[in-house]
Amino acid sequence: MSSAPDIRFVLFEPTHPGNIGSVARAIKTMGFDQLYLVNPPPEYICPDSRAMASGAQDVLHGARAVASLPEALEGCGLVLGASARHRRIGCPEVDPRECARQAMENAASKPVALVFGPERSGLANEQLDLCSAIVYIPANPDYSSLNLSQAVQILAYELRQQQILERELPPRESPLAGPAAMELFYEHFERVLLASGFLNPQNPRHLMRRLRRLFNRAQVDENELNILRGILSAVAPGSGPRPKP
Ligand code: SAH
Repeated sequence: MSSAPDIRFVLFEPTHPGNIGSVARAIKTMGFDQLYLVNPPPEYICPDSRAMASGAQDVLHGARAVASLPEALEGCGLVLGASARHRRIGCPEVDPRECARQAMENAASKPVALVFGPERSGLANEQLDLCSAIVYIPANPDYSSLNLSQAVQILAYELRQQQILERELPPRESPLAGPAAMELFYEHFERVLLASGFLNPQNPRHLMRRLRRLFNRAQVDENELNILRGILSAVAPGSGPRPKP
């Protein structure tokens, strides 16, 4: 099997150190080691997390703690959010196998991120705005909320199976644009929509969220994003920086 694909496991605001240790173990057993923690509890390296990490102390200690989700996603192309809630409005949904296929297809050109929510509340709209799809583990419809590290384990297992199968996936012609570049596009688009009068400044967020969901769903690549930015600049000169040639 080839070396570990460039895949980040991102825990957004996890609250239990034991779960963080357990996630370290879950990803290491499947051959991964990139763990990102967005606002973890301050003392997350503690007897609980060390005990749950067991032989994955290196992953636990090597975890990167950051202050915001965009920071954890820096440099990433494909971003998928894991959610215990089924059929969230406007978000396409993939199952763990399809998640693994998309992740392996994209990891060769840019890092891929899988984002997991806090134990109590799961991922909110603000985090899903940065994802191109949600991954739902098809569990018992009456009780579909897995323990955080068990959800990580299932997705990590599917990634490993996909890696073992590794049929020659054709490389992408152009890597996905990724959340940081998409954010600049949304800001540019919003300026153009406001200037044109189409977007009502009294209630701007609703429309922008719907447009975000539309473009995130499309998994825009770098070439396509340059075209979109070019169109905005041509239609509304001076509305934003010209895309790089
Ligand atoms: N009560 C929360 C569940 C949080 S569980 C809610 O209703 O959303 C913590 C995290 O584990 C979730 O945010 C998600 O990332 C992951 N998770 C748990 N069950 C899952 C499932 N069935 N499918 C995908 N991810 C799941």
